[in-house]
Amino acid sequence: MPHRPVYPSARRPATCGDVLRLVREDGVATRAELARVTGLSRPAVAARVTELIAHGLLVEHADGPSTGGRPPARLAFDAAGGTVLVANLGQSRGQLAVCDLAGTILRRADADLPPGRLPEVALPALVDQWTALLDACGLPASSVRGAGIGAPDPADFDLWDTSPVTERFGVPALLDNEVNVAALGEHRVHHAAVADLLFVKVSTGIGAGLISGGRIQRGAQGAAGEIGHVPVAGGPGVTCRCGNLDCVEAVAGGAALVALSSAPDLPSLVSRAQDGDAEAVLIVRDAGRRLGEVIAAAVNILNPAVVILGGDLTAAYEPLVAGVREVVYRRATALATRTLRIEPSRLGELAGLTGCAAMVLDHTLAPEAIDAVLASA
Ligand SMILES: [Zn+2]
Repeated sequence: MPHRPVYPSARRPATCGDVLRLVREDGVATRAELARVTGLSRPAVAARVTELIAHGLLVEHADGPSTGGRPPARLAFDAAGGTVLVANLGQSRGQLAVCDLAGTILRRADADLPPGRLPEVALPALVDQWTALLDACGLPASSVRGAGIGAPDPADFDLWDTSPVTERFGVPALLDNEVNVAALGEHRVHHAAVADLLFVKVSTGIGAGLISGGRIQRGAQGAAGEIGHVPVAGGPGVTCRCGNLDCVEAVAGGAALVALSSAPDLPSLVSRAQDGDAEAVLIVRDAGRRLGEVIAAAVNILNPAVVILGGDLTAAYEPLVAGVREVVYRRATALATRTLRIEPSRLGELAGLTGCAAMVLDHTLAPEAIDAVLASA
């Protein structure tokens, strides 16, 4: 099995955090192999393994393959050795969950947030609801190793005071754009083999999360991916909530489509399109074409391997993607579209929670974070 170097300079011995990463990410499963890969002595490996087992991060089972003598004990990452708390909040609704250390959702619920602007009201309410979910799982607050929140408006991120999370659970809370965490969730679960992915969320509003070179790209101010505010050509002259004319969100976002149709709301419009209602299908397909103009430009700039369409409108996927594909394959360059895939979100409404868990686990289980926690214990 090939291994990337454990430490960049080879000038420091492998730490507990490095050993955990080798077991968790690279599948190194015996003490002998850890010694070989890290160059540590057998006693040094044993000391690190013992410490990681004591902190609930590794388990060891005496069920390895026999090589004639006593079979070597097998090491494995202990996904049940803690929990992470996640929440994915849109402008109007959200979900929260308790996950294990593999990111598996143990229990989830709709977020019940009091009315008001998100940052001010959300944190204390989330802390109480996470506590109730942990209780329902029969797990103590001391099991929590990290928390993460996907939130809708990066312009407000300075206003998020996450200290209630730290006070209750003793861990920091990470914050990212809800579309970014959805992109991360789709990438990690279903598209880990590609390094370049564009996730486009089409709901009441329109936004995108970009993974380039295997990493989320947030831009200089966290404002990357705001494709909802790219103008479309030949639009009807509607003013967007951002103040500009004919942004794709103002022309093809859910609110705009409901205004065009006889349906009372977005779920009804989507349901009619699914049922083949001619008016609804035309409206969604035309929205797909408008969206396709903007996605074609993004494809030319970013050359993603896959474009994922998520959000409420993707329940009417057939007419939506027909419109998107029609324009993207015509307008983006031949090279950029040669192997481009345009697909629906496979995680659906779980994409955001799943991505939040990945974000928190990447941070919490990074070697330096593990070493810091063990040093302070
Ligand atoms: Zn706009």
